[in-house]
Amino acid sequence: MEKVDIKNFTLSQLEAHITGQGKERFRARQIFKWLYQQNTTSFAQMTNLSKDFRAELEKTARISNLEAEVVESSADGTKKYLFRLSDGNAVESVLIPDEDRNTLCISSQVGCAMGCEFCLTGTFRLTRNLTTAEIVNQVCAVKREEPVRNIVFMGMGEPLANLENVIGALRILTDPDGFQFSTRKVTLSTAGLVPEMAELGAAVTVNLAISLNATTDEVRDRIMPVNRRYPLKELLAACKAFPLPSRRWITVEYVMIKGVNDSLDDAKRLVRLISTFPSKVNLIPFNEHEGCDLRTPTQDSIDRFHKFLLDKHVTVITRSSRGSDISAACGQLKGRLDKVTAGSI
Ligand code: SAH
Ligand code: SF4
Repeated sequence: MEKVDIKNFTLSQLEAHITGQGKERFRARQIFKWLYQQNTTSFAQMTNLSKDFRAELEKTARISNLEAEVVESSADGTKKYLFRLSDGNAVESVLIPDEDRNTLCISSQVGCAMGCEFCLTGTFRLTRNLTTAEIVNQVCAVKREEPVRNIVFMGMGEPLANLENVIGALRILTDPDGFQFSTRKVTLSTAGLVPEMAELGAAVTVNLAISLNATTDEVRDRIMPVNRRYPLKELLAACKAFPLPSRRWITVEYVMIKGVNDSLDDAKRLVRLISTFPSKVNLIPFNEHEGCDLRTPTQDSIDRFHKFLLDKHVTVITRSSRGSDISAACGQLKGRLDKVTAGSI
């Protein structure tokens, strides 16, 4: 019999598993605390469980883990972790330090099927979804080395295209017996899968970010093919309906691309589009990468755009590009080693 990976279980699933084996329900909480609060890697270490029970668990279950194969450090302190998965695929996570508020950016898929024109991950297409265990194990691995305050699902993949496993991971991240992250410290970013946004909101409490990136259907259809399925009007209605944690806002990500979406007319339209829900705008200057002809706007046009929004009382920040010297910035993750770091690969 193949052993179950215990890290694929949310607490209630683990309770069902444990009680199914004739054990007390509260044992599941004890195991959960070992896994996510103590970051324990073996049943043998779970000393508040009887020896017999530990031996039984050993027979039917396993505790999966990820270890970073490569860790690259940027001049600005950003760290990129490359994790090899058991089937040979790889994903990346990025730790962005900010005084004592480290943010960990995690991946939800190997590659991505959405095909956004500006994103390197998208050019690799979708290989497969990550399991719940593979998602939470990115957090376990990094937490062994560094404190983590915030989690953002902004690494490789479209999290809402892997909804079930992502919801499992969100439950484990925010469970008081799991990682204990406040729901205000966890943010999921989506390119705009409208039905799944509603499903997500109904299942868990989490901060939402949307990758808007354009202010007309014409441009968005072109740079984000998902818009042909769920055009702006539907996406914005889904934002308005999304049940946020109390006193929170939707983060509107807007990758600024020269000559594509960086005009003052775009800024004007953007103000109108986001006026029906509480929001904060993150302007992200396009990170250039090989094989993509798009370009970053000049600093002047980014500043002008930013100022226009400010003058209209929109809360806006222009995100500084962290980790671009190690290809760890937004849209630069590919889950493969660069030749230069991989030596012979
Ligand atoms: N698939 C989800 C989660 C990934 S987040 C989503 O798209 O929202 C990745 C973020 O980086 C998105 O906001 C995306 O718009 C942005 N991005 C992608 N490629 C980029 C690039 N080349 N430069 C800057 N930002 C980019
Ligand atoms: Fe996928 Fe997001 Fe990249 Fe688009 S921006 S290809 S949805 S990871």
